[in-house]
Amino acid sequence: MNDDFTGCLLVWCGFLNSWVNGIPVKYNLGPSLSSRVDQRAGDRARSTSDSSAQVNISRMLGQQAERVMALGEWEERWQQDRIGFHQPTVHRMLEKNLDKVLNGRTGVRFFFPLCGKAIDMKWLADQGHSVVGVEISEKGIQQFFEENNMTFSEEPVPEIPGAKVFRNPEKNISLYQCDLFQFSSSIAGRFGAIWDRGSLVAINPKDREKYAALIVSLMDNDCRYLLDTFLYNPDQYRGPPFFVPDEQVRSLFGSSCNVELLQSVDALTDRQRDWGLDSFMENIHLITLKNSSATK
Ligand code: SAH
Repeated sequence: MNDDFTGCLLVWCGFLNSWVNGIPVKYNLGPSLSSRVDQRAGDRARSTSDSSAQVNISRMLGQQAERVMALGEWEERWQQDRIGFHQPTVHRMLEKNLDKVLNGRTGVRFFFPLCGKAIDMKWLADQGHSVVGVEISEKGIQQFFEENNMTFSEEPVPEIPGAKVFRNPEKNISLYQCDLFQFSSSIAGRFGAIWDRGSLVAINPKDREKYAALIVSLMDNDCRYLLDTFLYNPDQYRGPPFFVPDEQVRSLFGSSCNVELLQSVDALTDRQRDWGLDSFMENIHLITLKNSSATK
């Protein structure tokens, strides 16, 4: 376990403690210090806090387990320009961790599940990578091309009734307008990289196992999957974005993948304060298939 990860676990325990007691304590690192002084006492403290953490994580996941956003509600948001999730600049976590995703490779095939009109897609295409995205909103897809001054073609997707694919061949960007759960590797193959921002945290919580299975099926042997998740108190906000603890990331992907926590940052801004939150952490994970060449 690396120091970042240990640090994050401690921060996380601090969060849980503060929520359990209903006291807005920021980061309680006390137990970790005492465990260095007295190993056995520390072990006891840790196992108690581990089991209470498990109980609390389950309870917190339960808060949002039944929450459902219908596809029509997403489309309504696009129609009403209620797309606060869209960012006008390249995502700092993608920028910061791009080297780890590329791992020395050029011309990588990137997949963007639930792509919206993320300008990250253009940023990667400008660097010679190709991009395939999936998005339910046709308005969102068209805005992506228009706002980035790109022409696009539009064709039906024979394998998916009602779906369309919008392409810009010069930049090698193809965006599929359909429900992600209708998409599969038989449509556009497998990918060398995945940037999951606002995707696992946006799909309905009850669909997470199905989502993980789909994503793994889209990973090429050398795929490096960068996943962005949020930790916050689901008693204070019902999502989306939804609360996805690291424990769940590991349980969703851990059987077939290596899961590494790369970064954990305080991402609380006025936007989250307006949702009623007083803490908001953003975690970035790097996921690779076990026994693949991408783990080195
Ligand atoms: N990744 C983008 C958008 C995140 S918001 C970004 O970083 O800006 C989630 C997006 O997923 C919305 O644009 C919504 O319209 C779309 N969406 C939600 N559920 C979907 C589904 N099941 N299939 C395809 N798109 C979906």
